[in-house]
Amino acid sequence: MKSGPLLQLERVSVRYGAIEALREVSIEVGAGEIVTIIGANGAGKSSLLKSIAGLEPIASGRILIDGRDIGAIPAHKRLQCGVTLAPEGRGIFPDQSVLDNLLLGAYSLQATAAEINALVGHGFELFPRLAQRQAQWAGTLSGGEQQMLALARALMSKPRLLLLDEPSLGLAPLVIRDILRSIRVLRDAGLTILLVEQMAHQALALADRGYVLETGRITLEGSGSALLANPGIRAFYLGAH
Ligand code: ATP
Repeated sequence: MKSGPLLQLERVSVRYGAIEALREVSIEVGAGEIVTIIGANGAGKSSLLKSIAGLEPIASGRILIDGRDIGAIPAHKRLQCGVTLAPEGRGIFPDQSVLDNLLLGAYSLQATAAEINALVGHGFELFPRLAQRQAQWAGTLSGGEQQMLALARALMSKPRLLLLDEPSLGLAPLVIRDILRSIRVLRDAGLTILLVEQMAHQALALADRGYVLETGRITLEGSGSALLANPGIRAFYLGAH
């Protein structure tokens, strides 16, 4: 029997008063896939991730994990369903150490100290720079290191579906390359990832599939390579002529 997608959105709409940030958005993410959402500023990308994480209520539609409607489940319980958001702007605690930030990421888990230690070890393996800086205040990390911490902290909740909101934001090209490489490593280890990015080229090159979001609507979908080769996408999102 073929299993269904891990995540399914069916005609999801999100409104802020009169603004309709998402209009009947339907997407699917299969287990083990990296799926990317590309779109201009204000297209609704963050609203999409927040609605999946339970941080923004939906006006209509359904959000399903493993075929189960999670629409009525509050954000902290969605973490327990395996859905974790690494938000835009990173959301780390600047006045806490790197290690304490990581430990806070595991707060929703009913885990033993040994399991938590293993998760911290896994994060440090993925980002050795964090291991060297574990006692340092998170607010004093470089932008790239803060993004690594945000990713490592999100992994502390043992997600099945990781929602990443613009992990490249404000970072230098070489740092972006490292972050994207680590996202691929996570996918190769079996994690399912929904990635929102303005760096459309890099995101599509990394992703198995992608969707284009324009003023709250999905206007195009396809494999990462098909979208990369699409002349309209190239002209509008990739700066090619
Ligand atoms: P960016 O790439 O600039 O982060 P985005 O694609 O993530 O943009 P959203 O942040 O989801 O877009 O915003 C979509 C629309 O909803 C925008 O018009 C935005 O102004 C509006 N919006 C977002 N959050 C709120 C809010 N809390 N209250 C009112 N309007 C909002």
